[in-house]
Amino acid sequence: MVRQIKQKPMNWIERLYIFEAFRGLWTTLKHALRGLLRYETLPTVPYPEIKPEISRTYRAKHRLMLRPDGTPRCVACGMCATACPAHCIFLEAAPAEDGRIEKRVLRFDIDHLVCVFCGLCVEACPVDALRMDTCDTSYVFRKREDFVTPMYQLMSWDPKDYPQDDLQSQMAPGGTKNKQALDAWGLKVN
Ligand code: SF4
Ligand code: SF4
Repeated sequence: MVRQIKQKPMNWIERLYIFEAFRGLWTTLKHALRGLLRYETLPTVPYPEIKPEISRTYRAKHRLMLRPDGTPRCVACGMCATACPAHCIFLEAAPAEDGRIEKRVLRFDIDHLVCVFCGLCVEACPVDALRMDTCDTSYVFRKREDFVTPMYQLMSWDPKDYPQDDLQSQMAPGGTKNKQALDAWGLKVN
């Protein structure tokens, strides 16, 4: 449907343009002064000095979840790598010593330069071993290879940065529920 917008005809003052030009300049000046004198009232965020608040549900950089003893929850099933449309997850498996699981993960790298942050890997994981709730959206490197995040980096996160009701995070080493989880699971820290 075509919508026609009728323009109000200009009066003779507007047709002089000089007053309209000053009106435009006044608007610009008002905004410039607000930026100088009442910076905090601006609707913009002075990034990167102040980072915008990012929701936990936002698909940010990945992290590998940990068991209470600090080992990765990942059972090296490869479902995340299979689901990944960008083929940017590289993993290697080895037989697990723990009789409850078949395999353990030896290498788990994500190339964040290739990743399209679709979240399919997180959806595919059967054991909630991979999450994208770090709120980390800004990482800058000079070399391409530095964008490949290795397993030890994916595992280095602090339970303090995650909510108390996130039991999975709080059961990890350093978390508020770690001691109870170790006792309940009959695990010992090496
Ligand atoms: S977020 Fe998407 S593209 Fe990135 S690693 Fe996961 S599945 Fe692959
Ligand atoms: S889907 Fe989950 S358990 Fe399987 S390899 Fe990926 S992160 Fe590990």
